[in-house]
Amino acid sequence: MLIVTLLRSKGDAVVTVPPSATVRELLGTLAEHRIGAVVVSSGAGIAGIVSERDVVRHLHVAGPAVLDRNVGSIMTTEVVTCRRETPVVELMTTMTERRIRHVPVVDEHGAIVGIVSIGDLVKSRISELEGERDDLVGYIGAR
Ligand code: AMP
Repeated sequence: MLIVTLLRSKGDAVVTVPPSATVRELLGTLAEHRIGAVVVSSGAGIAGIVSERDVVRHLHVAGPAVLDRNVGSIMTTEVVTCRRETPVVELMTTMTERRIRHVPVVDEHGAIVGIVSIGDLVKSRISELEGERDDLVGYIGAR
């Protein structure tokens, strides 16, 4: 299965915040959309990605003062992305090895066309494996 198949059922909505947003505003966005990470963008392309883990790490180091800092100061700028044509199992390996739970999907021009989480990938992989199991059980039963 490819990422494009997963995006068809999940949708292509991507929540973004500008680098100038405060960490306090970021927390509001994460809570409102019930998500764990957002793409940071000032309009054109991806400037970075910031997840709840970044907030926790900086809160631990700097204390509550981090809430008034800009998202741009705590985001990860080297963003791992994938394409619509990326196989789900390949991306699962990448995410496990890199220890990241969110990956933006980009097109050939670098424009964001979706985002997938490790939860989305696990869900689609389980339904794929269940489909294969049902096919096998049907095949065995028909013999
Ligand atoms: P997460 O697993 O998404 O909570 O993110 C864990 C750490 O990896 C945080 O420091 C994120 O900023 C960073 N991160 C999350 N997603 C990506 C990504 N696609 N590319 C690079 N870093 C990421």
